[in-house]
Amino acid sequence: MILVSACLCGIKCNWKGEASPQEAVIELVKNGKALPICPEQLGGLPTPRPPCEQRGDQIFTRKEENVTVPFQRGAEEVLKLAQCCGFKKAILKARSPSCGCGEIYDGSFSEKLTSGDGVLAALLKKHGIEVLSDEDL
Ligand code: SF4
Repeated sequence: MILVSACLCGIKCNWKGEASPQEAVIELVKNGKALPICPEQLGGLPTPRPPCEQRGDQIFTRKEENVTVPFQRGAEEVLKLAQCCGFKKAILKARSPSCGCGEIYDGSFSEKLTSGDGVLAALLKKHGIEVLSDEDL
């Protein structure tokens, strides 16, 4: 069983209140092989919500509101779930400030990318859970 970003399964949970469905991920869920989670919703953020980007180890909205705490809370809740269910692998949405793996937006809100992991991807990796981007599928 693996964790997958809920927006990849067609759930309208992203900051715009939209989904980013990926057939391969939806098939995994349908076949009982994957569990959808959205760390930003689990952290208590609303949907829709302002776009957020990571700068250093903090997360900000475009209006400079620091939203690091709910991002971390959501990631920790997902980690708890992964650990209590024994999940060893996750497929997460590329470039998200929570789910991005290897590459994220640089915090300038100008569509520029930088190397790094989103808050959830970094936490899962730190605890030995393999993280893939949906673009690796
Ligand atoms: S936090 Fe992750 S699961 Fe939730 S909308 Fe963003 S990319 Fe998708």
